[in-house]
Amino acid sequence: MSDKIIIDLTDNFTHIGEPKDFCFECKLDNGLLPYPDAKLRKVCVCLTVMFLKPHVRVDGTITCHIDGFCDRCLADISRQIEIPFHQIFYKDYPDEEDGYVYSGSKLDVTKAICDEIVLSLPSSFLCKQDCKGLCPKCGTDLNKQQCSCDITRENAFAALKNLKF
Ligand SMILES: [Zn+2]
Ligand SMILES: [Zn+2]
Repeated sequence: MSDKIIIDLTDNFTHIGEPKDFCFECKLDNGLLPYPDAKLRKVCVCLTVMFLKPHVRVDGTITCHIDGFCDRCLADISRQIEIPFHQIFYKDYPDEEDGYVYSGSKLDVTKAICDEIVLSLPSSFLCKQDCKGLCPKCGTDLNKQQCSCDITRENAFAALKNLKF
């Protein structure tokens, strides 16, 4: 289930070119996430909206609060991922084929926000950028301790075996 993120432009229409700030906290569909078994707990959207008659320019940040499991070490983690957002919303008809449109005084940014999340999230969900993961042989969490398995030799041996006919 997803919330709608709708900005009321009434105040913008009378203040052309002036930035107005909007902040929302909302719930968007878990299906936006490329990570298995992860939950999109909440999404915080902070936007600066400017009416550039007749189009509307929106700039800001989308912060995704995600609960899930590290792709490498499988630790249970909660992370916040910030995504920059910059978009022009065209009045009634888009000038470009892939443009976003608005009409009336309500600007629905839900689809644009969801699209940006899908496009921008990193493909792997990690507890930290240099997570060492689990030893593929004994399962030790290599972030916490070193095991005695000789992984490099193991890999070289496997590669060698594959070369034989
Ligand atoms: Zn990890
Ligand atoms: Zn090991």
